[in-house]
Amino acid sequence: MCTRSKPTLLNPGGFGLPNFTIMPAKGSRKCTHCDEFYDEYTFTFDGEVICYACEESAMQYMSHCIHIPAFNVPEIHVFSNDFGLRDKECWELVYDNESGKNLKYPKPIKLEKWVHTDAWRGYTDWEYHDGYMVIGNGWITGWADKYHMRKADLNDLMEQLLERAKNVQDVPVDIWVITGVTSNVFSTAMDFIIREKDEDKLRKYLNAIFETSPEDINDMLG
Ligand SMILES: [Zn+2]
Repeated sequence: MCTRSKPTLLNPGGFGLPNFTIMPAKGSRKCTHCDEFYDEYTFTFDGEVICYACEESAMQYMSHCIHIPAFNVPEIHVFSNDFGLRDKECWELVYDNESGKNLKYPKPIKLEKWVHTDAWRGYTDWEYHDGYMVIGNGWITGWADKYHMRKADLNDLMEQLLERAKNVQDVPVDIWVITGVTSNVFSTAMDFIIREKDEDKLRKYLNAIFETSPEDINDMLG
């Protein structure tokens, strides 16, 4: 549960730095994002100095992760290279009991990157750790038109899957749905991830409940 409302206060993740947000005004420091000097600043996940204006604008580009744990209710987190993995509501870093550290990314993700398709355009993409597989990779939009009806089908499927996870709790494998910004404001990059060992279980579940398949999901995302 959240113990505090979303603050602008940030602690650097896992670097053993003291628990403060504003340094004493002994000297200003340079923001590693805009190269301006500030008396008041905060830190990125990796302990780099970042000013509050740059933090505010970087926060708008956080990626989202919906994790559906097997037979349990979904959890939603936000994450980025700059700020690590955080609770969406109260902005707290997500602590991992296994490693004893704050997580930078959702479990399956090794790296987040921006892929340039040309000088102006691009999209968020991710690399994954071994043992995970990408069931579907592509994009979604809330603006499905007659040319993109498969996107409306995909939105439907995702909503139904989430409803089942919340209410019936019968999703038999861990699923991670990862979304990130693209340069097209109408479309969002999305990956659908499971553990490799769970492929058969997922296939049977999708077929039994939704009469669909991993291949259908990938087609809808494409
Ligand atoms: Zn800055």
